[in-house]
Amino acid sequence: MPFSSLGLSAPLVSALSQYVAPTPVQAASIPVVLKGGDVLVTAQTGSGKTLAYVLPLIQQWLATRIEKPRKVHTLILVPTRELAAQVTKEVLRCSVHLPERIKVVSAFGGVSINPQMMALRGGADFVIATPGRLLDLVDHNALHLNHVAALVLDEADRLLDLGFADELARVLALLPKHRQNLLFSATFPESVQELANQIFHETTRIEVESAPTEMPVIEQRAIEVDTAQRTPLLRHLIKTEGWSRVLVFVAKQYTAEHVADKLRRHGISAVAFHGELSQGARWQALADFKDSQFQVLVATDLACRGLDIVQLPAVVNYDLPRSAVDYTHRIGRTGRAGESGVAVSFITAESHAHFCLIEKRHHLSLPREQIPGFEPKDVVPAPSPSNGGIKGRRKSKKDKLREAAARL
Ligand code: ADP
Ligand code: MG
Repeated sequence: MPFSSLGLSAPLVSALSQYVAPTPVQAASIPVVLKGGDVLVTAQTGSGKTLAYVLPLIQQWLATRIEKPRKVHTLILVPTRELAAQVTKEVLRCSVHLPERIKVVSAFGGVSINPQMMALRGGADFVIATPGRLLDLVDHNALHLNHVAALVLDEADRLLDLGFADELARVLALLPKHRQNLLFSATFPESVQELANQIFHETTRIEVESAPTEMPVIEQRAIEVDTAQRTPLLRHLIKTEGWSRVLVFVAKQYTAEHVADKLRRHGISAVAFHGELSQGARWQALADFKDSQFQVLVATDLACRGLDIVQLPAVVNYDLPRSAVDYTHRIGRTGRAGESGVAVSFITAESHAHFCLIEKRHHLSLPREQIPGFEPKDVVPAPSPSNGGIKGRRKSKKDKLREAAARL
């Protein structure tokens, strides 16, 4: 099925000449979005969800009368700055042949607000933003959202969870009641689903199962190793597995720096990526990694959602993710757009029980590997009854303090 059969006009279709055909999620979503209804779409990481909403929304915008100053037609919210930049690029890429000039502005924190205020002078057609900076711009009177025709929440479950709840509520209050709502994500935990149902009514649900032939092959592996041996094992794998590039996930900013530093000392080019870096350093790290300027990006979960790094052969969970949902998004940085990839998780004595929970959520049961020379010696601790109530997440500092207090 070609793009043209989905109801997209020629200038849009001609911008997509590099693609043979729409992906399944694009084929399923584009006609529905064009009709104007609210949709909630779940489809695998790397399956092409961005264009599934970008294309029909540009098409709809083309059908509107452009007034000056321009009124924001489409508002796309995303959880990270890097994702805002990535989606902005996609919108511009699709717009090269349009008969009208489309004005696309991205708005995110970590950089000076002034250029964004300047960019918004005269209005904008599409705004792609992280919620916090969007609200700052509204507070500065730099943009108005009372004519928004379509709202997109990309990585919707993340935007609906607690971390963004207040900001999202404020944004929603600024939007007109009558508008189109589009929610996209690879994951939609039930709790978030309920919340979504409360906020958005009568949403059409589109669930795209990946057909086996199109399914990006992400080979998942679980390697048992002692906590202290993880960096040497990582070095060993980088040397022996032939990965041109690898994205390594760790739990803390400090660990990201520490592991990257250790790798560099052993002659492996590595850079840390986390929220404490300046925005300039974040751009640079990501751009250089995409450009294969170095081999290993050691990142916190800041890099877990949405980032599209083409031809990334491997992801390593040096520390396990907190939740089964994060596991999906982390490993989904590889195996994108039908490519294959490998996702390796390091399983230590302490994290063993947590990994079992992640496996259970995903109906998975991975064989445990041991690598010669790195066989674990640490003993798996007996399950502690006090941790029984905490499912799918690690003990927090508070939990640990509580336990220590209980022991005393
Ligand atoms: P998702 O949001 O589902 O994780 P993206 O929208 O980031 O996925 O797209 C993943 C990759 O697939 C991108 O590199 C994108 O350019 C590519 N892609 C998108 N649509 C198509 C298509 N129709 N055919 C081939 N590749 C595509
Ligand atoms: Mg995406």
